[in-house]
Amino acid sequence: MILISDYYDSYKDDDMIILGLETQDRLTLPDGNQWHIRIDKLGCDNKGNYFVCDYKTNARIKLQEEADSDRQLAMYSIWVRDKFKDAKKVVLKWHMLAFNKEITSERTDEQLKELQEEIVEIIQEIEEATKEKDFPTNPTKLCDYCLYKSECPSFRHLAEIEELEEKKEELRADLIEFAKQKGVDIVYGSNAKASVKEFDKIVLPEDAEAKAAFIKLMKDKGIYEECSMVCYPKLNSKALKGELEGEIRGMVEIVKDWRVSLSRRKEGGRGEE
Ligand code: SF4
Repeated sequence: MILISDYYDSYKDDDMIILGLETQDRLTLPDGNQWHIRIDKLGCDNKGNYFVCDYKTNARIKLQEEADSDRQLAMYSIWVRDKFKDAKKVVLKWHMLAFNKEITSERTDEQLKELQEEIVEIIQEIEEATKEKDFPTNPTKLCDYCLYKSECPSFRHLAEIEELEEKKEELRADLIEFAKQKGVDIVYGSNAKASVKEFDKIVLPEDAEAKAAFIKLMKDKGIYEECSMVCYPKLNSKALKGELEGEIRGMVEIVKDWRVSLSRRKEGGRGEE
């Protein structure tokens, strides 16, 4: 919070015109490959100066030579020059928030040309290497920016599942529409048939307050007992902790079972939430 308020105090009167936040674009390299452009803040002034701002929360302040040799910032600079023909100067800024300082850097056209050639060479090397040897995937948070995620063996199945889910939903909607139009409740395919029947269902209140009021009303009207269920997880936990006594404990059995859990993976990473 202090970092944000320090930053705000320092920049509240800044007259930079903001052109984009968390930009999403791609820079096409001379060999046809693409470089992902995601700039924290892109701004300009009315003198033709453009600013590529990157926010850093590192506990160690970065050095000037690090900014001067940073590839990513420089590639962003190429993109800015390509997109904004009026750009006279592109200033790369690292906002070191923990120190309330900024480190700026610039590149000459010559440096940018060399960098682009260097990147193209590195890509060629990687492409050559992948032809000759096994190149295992290395999933990290950066995978979200990867152009090849849908083809990557580590993620391909996720894309396929999403695609199948979408197709399933489309097919379901088509079947319902078809059944409605034809006035039928079974649709026959070449080797399967689908039963399509309309039915009524209730939708329970979702927000916490309405839910509580609804349950209270059910209790007041005497239908709660009839319509509610035994809470198995709570009962299970009580039994395992030895909190069930006497007759009740005698009626439940404790046995061994297996638990196989699926959990949502963190975006782009190996970890789990
Ligand atoms: S998605 Fe991740 S692991 Fe797969 S190719 Fe891209 S960067 Fe590598």
